[in-house]
Amino acid sequence: MVLAGPTAVGKGTVASYVREHYPDVWLSVSATTRPPRPGEEDGRHYFFVDEPEFDRLERTGQLLESATVHGRARYGTPRGPVEQALLQGRPTMLEIDLQGARQVRQAMPEALFVFLAPPSWEELVQRLVGRGTESEAERATRLETARTELAAVSEFDVTIVNDDVARAAEHLVSLMVDPRAKD
Ligand code: 5GP
Repeated sequence: MVLAGPTAVGKGTVASYVREHYPDVWLSVSATTRPPRPGEEDGRHYFFVDEPEFDRLERTGQLLESATVHGRARYGTPRGPVEQALLQGRPTMLEIDLQGARQVRQAMPEALFVFLAPPSWEELVQRLVGRGTESEAERATRLETARTELAAVSEFDVTIVNDDVARAAEHLVSLMVDPRAKD
């Protein structure tokens, strides 16, 4: 299952909830070139790699998908562990950005694609610009990105509204156990 959605919708929070509460679900650990944040562990939240190592992973076909996110750092899903989890029949989940989701659709069209949506456009705007720390230009760029990202909803199999993290996570997990539980 691939979980994607617009910037600031709370994908990471929902994925963390699944990690904490549903140990049977196998969550892919991405490689990234961004530095760790406080509390993040190498190999658990991400594999923190430098640019040459990311290049090597990409060149040797070890990434199922990869993308530069927010024009800053590079992120990618290591292919081997995903294939292994699927072979073991484990419920398998990727939390990635939209560009990555599109690549996985090419590589594994049989996956279930879930779009995490904000309760409303206003709510997303609030989350994006609410902190008031960005310049006017930065806010405009973010809003424009969010608008384009929201339009991608039609590419997905299922939409889950993130109005409550626990509820959204439970719905996700139920989809992995029974993909027919789409409503
Ligand atoms: P953060 O740096 O805040 O943890 O994540 C930033 C963004 O990168 C989020 O939108 C997240 O979904 C995305 N992301 C994390 N891992 C991957 C990955 O392996 N591939 C892609 N394409 N995006 C990722």
